[in-house]
Formats: sequence, structure tokens, C-alpha cells
Amino acid sequence: MKCPHCGKELAISKKDSSYGLCHTCKKRYKLPSQQQTYSNIPPKHIREKSERTIRENYRNMLEIEDEEDVSETKDKVILTIMIILFLLIIAVAAYIFLFFK
Ligand SMILES: [Zn+2]
Repeated sequence: MKCPHCGKELAISKKDSSYGLCHTCKKRYKLPSQQQTYSNIPPKHIREKSERTIRENYRNMLEIEDEEDVSETKDKVILTIMIILFLLIIAVAAYIFLFFK
């Protein structure tokens, strides 16, 4: 970044690398965040994108689990109905058998 006052290249402050120093004007300027020297931290938009992807994947995972829960509950209900019907049929068959005996 260049000094907005005299146009000379700013020296990055040794105390705080987010500041640029102009030795000609003896002034300190806040540098734009992408010019910070923290090279190990990815730019903000990339970080936000990956965070969003992780969040979406997590949400998808939860939704899949929800669907599995619903189908499992349905299966249990169907199984319960089948058992009740089966018992009813046996009861009716036994009743008919006893009635006509
Ligand atoms: Zn300057």
C-alpha cells in the first residue's frame, strides 16, 4: 500500500502489522485487512464459504437423520398395526371356531 499523502510505499509497522508507516510524513495508516501478513489465515470470503459448506453438510446430515427417524417410526407403527390385526384375526377365528362348534 502506498501513502495516500505523498505516494511513497508504506513500511509495515513492527509493533502492529495491520498498520503501515510513512517515514516521509511520519504518519501511520491502517492497512486494508487483506494486506495483513497473516498468510496462514485464508481470506475472509474463503473462510466464510468453507464455514457455510460445513454448516450445510451438518444440516444435511441432521435432515437425513430426521428422515431416518420418521421412517423408523412409520415402520414401528405399521408393525404394531400388523400385530394388532394378526391378534384380531386370531381372536375372530377363535370366536368363530368356538361359536360354530
Ligand atoms: Zn507519506
